[in-house]
Amino acid sequence: MNYVAKENVSTERKILLMRRDASLEITNDGEQRAFGNAASFTGLANPAGGTNSSANFAALTSPTGLIGSAGPAVPAGPIGSANVCGAADIVTTSSVPKVFLSNDCAFNCAYCGCRRSFEAKERYSTAPRELAEIAYAQIGKGCPGVFITSAVFKTPDYTQELIIEALRILRNEMRYSGYLHAKVMPGADPLLIRRTGLYANRLSVNIEVAKSEGYALIAKNKSKENILRPMGDISGLVRAAGEERKIFRHSQFTATSHTTQLMAGSLGEDDGTILRLSNALYKKYSLSRIYYTSYQYRYTAKGYEDLPLVNTPAWRMHRLYQADRLMQLYGYSVNDIVPDESEFLLDQNYDPKAAWALRNMQFFPVEVNAADREALLRVPGIGVTGAERILAARRQGRLSFDALKSLGISLKRSKHFITCGGKFSGSMSERVIRYSLSNGAANGQLTLAM
Ligand code: SF4
Repeated sequence: MNYVAKENVSTERKILLMRRDASLEITNDGEQRAFGNAASFTGLANPAGGTNSSANFAALTSPTGLIGSAGPAVPAGPIGSANVCGAADIVTTSSVPKVFLSNDCAFNCAYCGCRRSFEAKERYSTAPRELAEIAYAQIGKGCPGVFITSAVFKTPDYTQELIIEALRILRNEMRYSGYLHAKVMPGADPLLIRRTGLYANRLSVNIEVAKSEGYALIAKNKSKENILRPMGDISGLVRAAGEERKIFRHSQFTATSHTTQLMAGSLGEDDGTILRLSNALYKKYSLSRIYYTSYQYRYTAKGYEDLPLVNTPAWRMHRLYQADRLMQLYGYSVNDIVPDESEFLLDQNYDPKAAWALRNMQFFPVEVNAADREALLRVPGIGVTGAERILAARRQGRLSFDALKSLGISLKRSKHFITCGGKFSGSMSERVIRYSLSNGAANGQLTLAM
C-alpha cells in the first residue's frame, strides 16, 4: 500500500503535535484545556436537558489512543477526552504513550478538533515506518508499551492498513515484543481487524455516543453499525483466540482484550442511561474497560450549525469512572448507583459509593469483625484492598480501631459506618457524616477508598 503524505511536517514537529493532542483535552474549537489527574471540578454545566433513554443501544456493546495514555493489561483508568475517533486525545494516569498516525481526519464529528471542517487545525500524517520509529523511541525511553491510534486518514480501511503496517514493522523488523494497543477505525474491514489483532495486545474502537440516534446528530460519518460491528468482530476474535490458547497454548491472534470510549453529555442523556449502556457493553462484548469523557461543543462547527453549545463539566466524567468501578469491582448494580429514574446526573458532592451509603443508612453500621466482603465493600473508606486486608487479618484475631488504622483503613470516612468489636466511634449527626463524605468529592478525588 502506498502512503502519500499530504504535507511537509518534520518528525520533530509531528511529535510535538502528537504530544499536544494526547496530553490535553481538545475542544471542537481546537482550544486545549489542561486536564490532569486531579479533576478540576470547575463549573457545573447542566448540559441540555435530560431525556431518559429508551432509544439507547438496548443491547449492546471498545478506545483510546502518542504520548500519554491507555495502559497495558489493565490500563489504569481515567480520563479520556472526547475527540479523535479513536484518535481520541487522552490523558490517563497510565504511562503508555499514544502515537498518532494522523490527525488529518476525513470525518467531521462536531465535537472533535480533528474534524475535517476545522480549517485552523495544524495537520500531520505519518508513514508507517516513521510511526514505528516514533513509537519505538518512546518505548526506548522506558514506556511499558505504546498505543497506536489515528484519526480517519483518507478512509477507515486505508488508515487501518497503515496502522497494521506500523505494527508489523514494530513486531517483525524492530523485534519489539512488548505491549501494543491499537485503534480500530469505525467500519474497518473485518479482515483488517483480524490482521491488526495479529500484532496488537489490545484493540479499541470508540462508541462515543450513548444513544444510537446521536451519530446522525453529532458524528455524521459514523453509525451504530460501523462502531458495533467492529466491536462485535473484536469481541468474537478475542474470545476465539482465548479458546485456542486454552487448548493449544497459543493463538496467532495476539490481542487479548479490548476497550471503548463513551462521552457523557452529548445528547442530554442522564447518567443512568450511560451506566446501563456501559453495563450492557461489558456484558455483551466482554470489554476490559470503558473510558469516559465529557462532551464539549463550544464552537459552532460547519455542518452542525443547529447544535446547542455544550460544556459538560469534568466532574461528571469522574463520577462515571467511579460508578463504573463500583459496578465492575465492588458488585454494585446500576440501580444501586442510579436508583431514581428522575435523577439526571450523579451527585456532584458525593462519590457514588458515599451517595449510596447516605441513601441506605439502615444498612449500617457494619461490624468489621463479622461482615462479609460484600458488606465491607459498601463502607465508605474501605476499598477492595482494605476489605481483603480486613478479611485476612480477622483470621489472626479480632480487630480494633487501631488495628484497622495499621491496615491502612481510613477511619475518617469509615468510622461513621462501622463498629469494631461492638464499639462505634462515628457520629450520629447526618450533617457531620455528610460533611466528612463530601470533602473527597469537593477535592475531586477519583478514589473510592479502593
Ligand atoms: S472520526 Fe471523528 S472523532 Fe475521530 S478523529 Fe475524525 S473527526 Fe475526530
